Amino acid sequence: MGKRPGTFDAFRLARDRGVLEGTLDVGASERLADRIAEGQETAARIAWCIEGTTDAAGRPALAIEITGDVPLTCQRCLTPLALPVSQRTVAVLAKSEADAEMLDADSEEEVLVADHPLDPAELVEDELLLTLPYAPMHEARDCPARHK
Ligand SMILES: [Zn+2]
Repeated sequence: MGKRPGTFDAFRLARDRGVLEGTLDVGASERLADRIAEGQETAARIAWCIEGTTDAAGRPALAIEITGDVPLTCQRCLTPLALPVSQRTVAVLAKSEADAEMLDADSEEEVLVADHPLDPAELVEDELLLTLPYAPMHEARDCPARHK
């Protein structure tokens, strides 16, 4: 398999303590576009940073950071809701699926199989998909539906 443009070697990034940075255009992502409030697609930009590091046990890892506001639709009142996202996840790198199973068994952290060049956009999409609530809603006191 050839190296796709924009992909990176996760183990090398971890070893070199490298940093990759960029912005994800959420509305242009096939996996995320239908989660974004209609008409807000172009406003949905998430800043990301992927940093080569090690976990507490000294194993190669990536720290994935995402920051921004995601325009969603409140499922209670159906008006826009900007969900602030700000999180950092550390994922331990595995050389293979078998390696990942072993790491999973004795690690609290997320495990990422990096036996191929990784696409930063894909990692950021994964993080965002895990973060977005299935049925986003305003806080009860902020939701206009409450006053109807
Ligand atoms: Zn609401």
